[in-house]
Amino acid sequence: MISMNTKDYKYPKEQIIIVGAGIAGLSLAIQLTENNIPCLVLEARDHFSGATSGVRISANGVKVLEKMGIHHIGEPTEKLIMYFGNNKISFNVNKKPNESAAIIVTRLAIFEKLRQRVEEMDIQILYDFTLDHVIEHETGVIAISSNGKHIEGKYLVGADGVGSKVRSLLNPDSKSNKRYAGYLGIGLIYPSDQKIEMSLFNNVNGNIGLGSIGRIHPNDNYTNNFL
Ligand SMILES: Cc1cc2nc3c(=O)[nH]c(=O)nc-3n(C[C@H](O)[C@H](O)[C@H](O)COP(=O)(O)OP(=O)(O)OC[C@H]3O[C@@H](n4cnc5c(N)ncnc54)[C@H](O)[C@@H]3O)c2cc1C
Repeated sequence: MISMNTKDYKYPKEQIIIVGAGIAGLSLAIQLTENNIPCLVLEARDHFSGATSGVRISANGVKVLEKMGIHHIGEPTEKLIMYFGNNKISFNVNKKPNESAAIIVTRLAIFEKLRQRVEEMDIQILYDFTLDHVIEHETGVIAISSNGKHIEGKYLVGADGVGSKVRSLLNPDSKSNKRYAGYLGIGLIYPSDQKIEMSLFNNVNGNIGLGSIGRIHPNDNYTNNFL
């Protein structure tokens, strides 16, 4: 017999279970809640902090953030050029009139803003829940953590990033594993108001070197450069 542990949750049977409180999982939770669809987010980590990195968000992505009530984050991107070996790759970062530009921002600053929004909307996140397996039944699904907690819901959505556990459960042959990308990125952060752009430089051993800008914390009043 399966012991349920759902009495603390508002909508155990009807809720959508989202696995992963990253950018994808939190964004989905916000948008479901805006549409009055109950949901619960399950997150393996017990908190978010520590080292961060820069993420570049396209103008369309910024539009989605703004729709979710997240404004004035990161730094606008004016130009982006990347080299992979000798191939130069150019990205179109031009914005349309009256639209915000693509941005570069730290992952932590995005999390802070999304979590702030999630709190305002009273969305539930259950931390320290590492999805291990799932039981499907006629009317829904039960998510089971590696330490035996059970959460019941109607549907389960995987937003658990690279090496997704959900994907490997749905499709055991998918080889949903992380693997070495072929280059190493080293990040250093220092405070400065100078703007620089992100680039990957070619060196004899492969692609190396990047720099980007963004705030570590949304309330920072200076820009942090990553190199
Ligand atoms: C150095 C670096 C730079 C990047 N730059 C960019 C960029 O410029 N632009 C861009 O679009 N993307 C960039 N990416 C990719 C970026 O990481 C993703 O776009 C983004 O973070 C994906 O968000 P996500 O929510 O899908 O996944 P993640 O951010 O990976 O979130 C997944 C969450 O699921 C949780 N989780 C995992 N397994 C389980 C489990 N079994 N049970 C419960 N929870 C679980 C994790 O703890 C995590 O919180 C970059 C990645 C790196 C490493």
